Amino acid sequence: MKPEDVLVLPFVFALGAILGSFANVCIHRLPKGASVVSPRSRCPACLTPIAARDNVPVLSWLLLRGRCRACRAPISPRYPLVEALVGAIFFAAAFLHGLGPVALAGALLATAAVILAATDLEARVLPDEITFGVLGLGLVLAAWRDLAVVRTEGREAFGEHFFPALAGAVFGAVVVWGVGAAYRLLRGAEGMGMGDVKMIAMIGAFVGPGGVLLTLFAASVAGTVIAGLPALLRILSWRAAFARARSSATCAKEEAERHGLLVAGDGRIAGTGPRWKEIPGSPAEGAPLSPAGPVARPVAAFARLALRRAAAGKSTSFGRLAVEDETGEFFRVLAARGEAVPGGLLVLLSRVDVPFGVFLAAASVVVWQWGGPALDLLGGALPFPGRGLLP
Ligand SMILES: [Zn+2]
Repeated sequence: MKPEDVLVLPFVFALGAILGSFANVCIHRLPKGASVVSPRSRCPACLTPIAARDNVPVLSWLLLRGRCRACRAPISPRYPLVEALVGAIFFAAAFLHGLGPVALAGALLATAAVILAATDLEARVLPDEITFGVLGLGLVLAAWRDLAVVRTEGREAFGEHFFPALAGAVFGAVVVWGVGAAYRLLRGAEGMGMGDVKMIAMIGAFVGPGGVLLTLFAASVAGTVIAGLPALLRILSWRAAFARARSSATCAKEEAERHGLLVAGDGRIAGTGPRWKEIPGSPAEGAPLSPAGPVARPVAAFARLALRRAAAGKSTSFGRLAVEDETGEFFRVLAARGEAVPGGLLVLLSRVDVPFGVFLAAASVVVWQWGGPALDLLGGALPFPGRGLLP
């Protein structure tokens, strides 16, 4: 990057942070199908509209010490973290690749990856507004790079970046759709959704066909390797939760409200947390455990079994439960552990299905930044199609 461009870097960070603020709105609203333009942002606790002075990325959260100005309700640190992350992404892209369409492409892809990883993790949704919108921007940026070559080198270059970007989008969509269709044929179950197909098409417009193969490979490896990490964290946090729950009935109820479900000795539900409440047809607090709806039935059956085992003196029960409605709209794989505590039986629940979109998002950013040299090594004298898209 040119020395005088360094002066621009703080502004690039600020621009990224403002976009990060918009990314927060997308993460929050797009999975619900709500508009990202109106209404104005509100405090989720007291619904007071957030004033402009309290909406400055990162700074406002720090000045307000993470609380709403009107009602003092805590504001999730996720908001300033996403703002700072997207600011850092823009800063790093400009620092590494100078000001221009290459840096903008890398920063946009990484920002889209942050949004999609968050919505996929939280709501199992990859919104079309992001996948299709950023796919279109990727093609525009590729055409811009063609024009930049024409202008600086004075030679005919139309299509040099644009066609590999288009080919990457089509190739990615066809490969992932094909793998999903084959999986459905062989196993009779849904492997990858259309959201993943659209997401890899978006990534392909930035990394080209060779980069698509690298991204899919890296995402699959990461998916296999990283899957062990959440399991370790879960073991540690559950151990602490059960230790606390054993100390008193109040603590047991609190742990249930955080991570699971508390069933009293008479079979009535005495405390529920978000993982239980989100299951369609799950009985509410105070209701008996038995009349659970069809979706909630496997978890209720696990809790009843754990109750019987606890009554027979067996202290803990483990389970891995697939919870699904018939449309496939609601799908969870839950790890469960039940143990007798003061006040009844505490069942802790945790999701163990990290969606593939999260790994695709991480892999796409790594491949965009470092995949070029990897493709050179793999291809030897024959460059991979679309190599020119990657720095
Ligand atoms: Zn408030």
